[in-house]
Amino acid sequence: MELDLVLKPQVSGLLREVLDAPTTLSEMVEALGSPLNVVVPQQIETNAAAYRAVYSEHRLSGTIFFAHKANRSSALIRELAAGGCGVDVASLGELRHVLEAGFTGARIMATGPKDTEFLWLAARVGATVNADSREELVELAELVARFELAPVRVMIRLSAFDSPGVTIASRRSRFGVHARELSSVLDLLDRHRDVLDLRGMAYHLDTTGLDEKVRALEGCLLAMREAQTRGFTPSAIDIGGGFGVNYLSDRREWDRYTTELGKAVLGTRASMTWQNHGYGLRAEGATLRGTLGLYPAHRDLAGASYLDELLGRESPSLGRPLGTLLLENLYDLHIEPGRGLTDQCGLTLARVAQVRTTDAGEVLVSVAANSRDISAEDHAVLMDPLLLPHRPEAQAPVGVYLTGNLCLEDDFITRRQVRLPRTPVAGDLLAFVNTAGYFMDFAADHALMQPIARKVAVYPAEQGWTWCLDEQYWPVKGNRA
Ligand SMILES: *Cc1c(COP(=O)(O)O)cnc(C)c1O
Repeated sequence: MELDLVLKPQVSGLLREVLDAPTTLSEMVEALGSPLNVVVPQQIETNAAAYRAVYSEHRLSGTIFFAHKANRSSALIRELAAGGCGVDVASLGELRHVLEAGFTGARIMATGPKDTEFLWLAARVGATVNADSREELVELAELVARFELAPVRVMIRLSAFDSPGVTIASRRSRFGVHARELSSVLDLLDRHRDVLDLRGMAYHLDTTGLDEKVRALEGCLLAMREAQTRGFTPSAIDIGGGFGVNYLSDRREWDRYTTELGKAVLGTRASMTWQNHGYGLRAEGATLRGTLGLYPAHRDLAGASYLDELLGRESPSLGRPLGTLLLENLYDLHIEPGRGLTDQCGLTLARVAQVRTTDAGEVLVSVAANSRDISAEDHAVLMDPLLLPHRPEAQAPVGVYLTGNLCLEDDFITRRQVRLPRTPVAGDLLAFVNTAGYFMDFAADHALMQPIARKVAVYPAEQGWTWCLDEQYWPVKGNRA
């Protein structure tokens, strides 16, 4: 039974070295409390380099805008400010944060829903406004005129692309303007040419599905043509984020897990989850129904290679690869990876508080953290934590449930049973790796007055690596390659 449960995480770079020093980690948690977040700022630049290599391969220019919402770390943002990336901000707070880190307007893309204050500051510092609606453009034009600001660069975020003759479901989004409304948005921009400078078209689709993205990119290419025929000179297409991460080291484990989960839901094998939770699957008699609502935790195609694949795909209606079409038109390609750029950029440590066994024989490991501190499950990503310290002499694998520190029935860090190499004891640490993209701080709050994790940055030093508080990290620290 045990082997079926294993989902070994992919770990590389400095994170691996950090995990090899459990005594230091334990001292850090002792000093700073549990949970504790660890970020690896220099890794984000290494990741950006992989995307840049894809740009070179396709001979494309344009900017990589890190989607700030994936992580609140100052260290990551400051490291990016020192390099060549841009940043995508989706709130007034994020915009203020990146300005303080050293970004200037030319490298900032403002996305998402925007209140007046956010719009004003974005316009004031010369950020590009990725417009979500016609109403937003009207307000922006009014602000620029009222405050006599320089014309603002704008992109039009499109959604719901109709594909001629094809029935690919284009999912509804509450963001962006329908491609059908483009003409009236161009009318609006035409009336405000003195204050709004149309730079191009944009989309962001929250999916891993390549076909949908092919349609969307093609939709943007067509929209660029329409804008050109109306006398605009747009020069860039922003294809948003959603390049993703591969979280697991072994595809076979993932395949086996999902196959066995189906059997468990049908009752043909022992349950693998708390109260036989099916992650979207359910049994109707002897038939499996529903859809597995999990992120594909093992992905052969993720991050920069996903971008490469997308650019190599043929445009169904224009014929020829999308990368070629971008190049021929001399369009800049902008991307906004969040999760994809944070791959291997962080981990979350949690101290084991108590271990108990239920009357049904289930082992519950309660940790000093909760499901908002480590929200991988909430994002439907399943992977095993690592148990520290490593004690090879004590190995006796055990399947356990990880429960959080909130007195809420559903505060499980995992509703799936995870297999640990031995039964943990109070004071051990669990390391949840690869949490820098959304899992470590997106949802963290002070429910029950429990502490929010502090954050530390780790970076290479003379002897291996060293660390400091996240807010103390600036790119001038450490040895740079
Ligand atoms: C969230 C978001 C992103 C980043 O998405 P990832 O899946 O993390 O790459 C990029 N652009 C916009 C507009 C977003 O809302």
